[in-house]
Amino acid sequence: MRILVVEDDPSLRQQLRAALADVGYAVDVADNGEDGQFMGETEPYDLAILDLGLPQVDGLTILRGWRAAGASMPVLILSARDRWSEKVEGLDLGANDYLTKPFHMEELLARVRAHIRTQAGQGSSVMSCGDLQLNAATGQVTVKGQNVKLTAFQFKVLDYLIHHQGRIVSRSELVEKIYAQDHERDSNTIEVFVGILRRKIGADRIVTEKGLGYRLVDPAAVT
Ligand code: CA
Repeated sequence: MRILVVEDDPSLRQQLRAALADVGYAVDVADNGEDGQFMGETEPYDLAILDLGLPQVDGLTILRGWRAAGASMPVLILSARDRWSEKVEGLDLGANDYLTKPFHMEELLARVRAHIRTQAGQGSSVMSCGDLQLNAATGQVTVKGQNVKLTAFQFKVLDYLIHHQGRIVSRSELVEKIYAQDHERDSNTIEVFVGILRRKIGADRIVTEKGLGYRLVDPAAVT
């Protein structure tokens, strides 16, 4: 899952980046409105966290631009100002949620999880595919109730696949969603991650669709 943070306050920007990266998201940051608007319109994010008071272009203008450009990721607005008219305007422009500063990081992370799983059509933070379970809140993965230990990047791949289970996910999509912008990208490593995941969770759970990508399936449900 890849998240964009648009925030001009350097300390809050760093806190957000660290907290989101710590729980396994790929995080890109913009420190001004112009960059933030461009990144949100051109890169495929799973969610954006958008400050309202920004240099160059303000948050509401950015949000209007993103939606006009067809960017449909959930957007969580941050504002230092607790002004009801801004909340209404932000929500009307297509924001999904609103947090007033100062906020607790745990609350922000819980809201991020909630929006990402709503986007995936899931009601709980425990995602299941047959007897494979992934708890997005704790990072725990189990198969038939047994713990499976994954590295950060293996978890990111499985997290993305389980949020999009049943459909084919291409290798380039996985590359875009598990690496932040400034991370060196190598689509061959995706094959390696998938190979290791198959060993850890069961080879028949990740199907290769030749030339198209991967699909997470419940082997018990496949006939
Ligand atoms: Ca600001």
